[in-house]
Amino acid sequence: MAARRPALDEATLIGRYFARRSPANRGVILGIGDDAAVTRLPRGHELVTATDAIFEGVHYPHGTPPRAIGHRCLAVNLSDLAAMGATPLWASLALSLPRATDAWLREFSAGFFALARTWNVALIGGDTVRGPAGATVTVQGHVRRGRYLTRDAARPGDGIWVTGRPGDAVAGRLQLGVRGASLLLRQRFLYPVPRLREGRALVGIASAMMDVSDGLHDDLGKLMSASGCGADLDAGRLPLSRRLVSAVGREAARHLALCGGDDYELLFTVPVRREAQLARTISGWALPVTRIGTVRRAAGLRWSMDDKPFRFRDRTFRHFA
Ligand code: ADP
Ligand code: MG
Repeated sequence: MAARRPALDEATLIGRYFARRSPANRGVILGIGDDAAVTRLPRGHELVTATDAIFEGVHYPHGTPPRAIGHRCLAVNLSDLAAMGATPLWASLALSLPRATDAWLREFSAGFFALARTWNVALIGGDTVRGPAGATVTVQGHVRRGRYLTRDAARPGDGIWVTGRPGDAVAGRLQLGVRGASLLLRQRFLYPVPRLREGRALVGIASAMMDVSDGLHDDLGKLMSASGCGADLDAGRLPLSRRLVSAVGREAARHLALCGGDDYELLFTVPVRREAQLARTISGWALPVTRIGTVRRAAGLRWSMDDKPFRFRDRTFRHFA
């Protein structure tokens, strides 16, 4: 009888899939292998830190390819750094698994490190535990002193802008198990692209910025209340992709763009005096950037379309409603 292979022990697992696979990155003095990592920031820069956890059944459905989970746990964190206008440097990964198999870990780490290499992010540590399937990542990046964007500085009169095609990702998520569904929409859910280059370029142009993770409408509400303002918004200007409209119809597409989530696009405000600078900056981008409204003094979000109030049912997912 063939001997059963012993379960993957922790040290072997870390050595095989996580240590030494990381891109070399300046600033790492001591990486994986000791009790803690030691790093150094570039001179004159400040440290920016974000943490996001993703768990099976909550943030991604059961059956999501492990390569996509590896990509996603890093991507959602890099999106937070993008929204600050920061440049990523380091990541740590706390991985929780009901069981450790080579096949799963190979795919997961391939997804993680493909994205890490794209942005030159060094994995400097983490933890590996038995538990429900999920991954918690902390990323750290840097900005030149004071050169970051927050949510609280939008002012009345500023234009409200969004990158990309909100709604695509959630449509892709809903169609995950559907045969004949759009592969491109599916990719938009499985492999979100952190808008790091764009985020950095908007420092000095945008007045306030955040990333869209919970849904455009909900996140707009957060941006406006952090800034102590409200907004007039035009649902007719939502940048719906042709693919999304042809998959679900224009009305449902609008609804997914407003309440879907998982977009990982940038939502930002720009003062009128910086509009010309914005136009110059985005003219070279392949990524669409669309103005969807204007900040106003009074609180609340007022959506309209064809000059009439636009009503919709807000069905944004909330963890603790
Ligand atoms: P300790 O018990 O001191 O916390 P561990 O045995 O948990 O150390 O981890 C050993 C080393 O491996 C540490 O440097 C830790 O940061 C790193 N590590 C553990 N799990 C992971 C992981 N999933 N990804 C990257 N590094 C990890
Ligand atoms: Mg220790």
